[in-house]
Amino acid sequence: MQIIREVDALRRAVAVLRCAGGKGGGTVALVPTMGALHGGHIALVREARRAADHLVASIFVNPTQFGPNEDFALYPRREAADAETLEREGCAILWAPDAGTMYPDGHATSISVAGVSEGLDGAARPGHFAGVATIVTKLFNQVQPDVALFGEKDYQQLAVIRRLAADLDLGVRIIGVPTQRDLDGLALSSRNFYLSKEERRAARALPRALVEAAQAIRDGGEVAAALAQARETLVAAGFSPIDYVELCDPETLRPMTTLNGPARLLAAAKLGKTRLIDNLAVTS
Ligand code: AMP
Repeated sequence: MQIIREVDALRRAVAVLRCAGGKGGGTVALVPTMGALHGGHIALVREARRAADHLVASIFVNPTQFGPNEDFALYPRREAADAETLEREGCAILWAPDAGTMYPDGHATSISVAGVSEGLDGAARPGHFAGVATIVTKLFNQVQPDVALFGEKDYQQLAVIRRLAADLDLGVRIIGVPTQRDLDGLALSSRNFYLSKEERRAARALPRALVEAAQAIRDGGEVAAALAQARETLVAAGFSPIDYVELCDPETLRPMTTLNGPARLLAAAKLGKTRLIDNLAVTS
């Protein structure tokens, strides 16, 4: 596996992969990450290996998607261990630029996706999705992959990227990968590393609240009542504040007050200093 930090070298290395051929004519998959890899990332990597001949993974802790009071400085950085993991998983290129390469002096362009990025995390974290859309557009332009894989764990991010890729004709097929969970149901996340033992135990209330609310809604219960019950469950477990618990259209993410088709239940809340998010499909 090559570890590359400059755009020109990346372009040359990707061109070599494309020429190297393979059953699909040398197709390339991209898995963008912020590192501190866990089982969720590995699921993306394995799916990527099935989807294309060659895998490029990126690690970049993107400053523009963190708010001023968020955890950019604290975010776990473990590049050496991550590189070993990626190498073992058959990754061809680890694209690991530094901030100066991604945002050279004078960088002034930002991509914003209206609609789907405005509610939920978009409302709770102003500027977050513009940071995500900008960095993902740059990664797509740098690597020019045939497919790119993103986790359903960050469901709104996936919806924003699908919109972005379609609207700007980016020519990249977007694949969403189901959320990977710990045995007690908690979605795997690099931010779980922040949780104390006690918080980690309490955190299981988040998937439980969603499963129970989804079940109540599926069984014909009132949506507002199910969402209120989920909030109560989270508060009782020690979550505060709760940014949102909402039932939304799975594509546009507009709020739904009744279950009249496929829907997604999404939640975000803080446990101590750690902000956790999760979501579930709800089918009628
Ligand atoms: P991150 O490094 O947190 O930016 O995540 C990189 C990619 O991995 C994103 O597409 C995430 O949605 C995805 N991801 C993170 N955690 C999980 C998980 N538990 N299951 C599936 N995908 C995940």
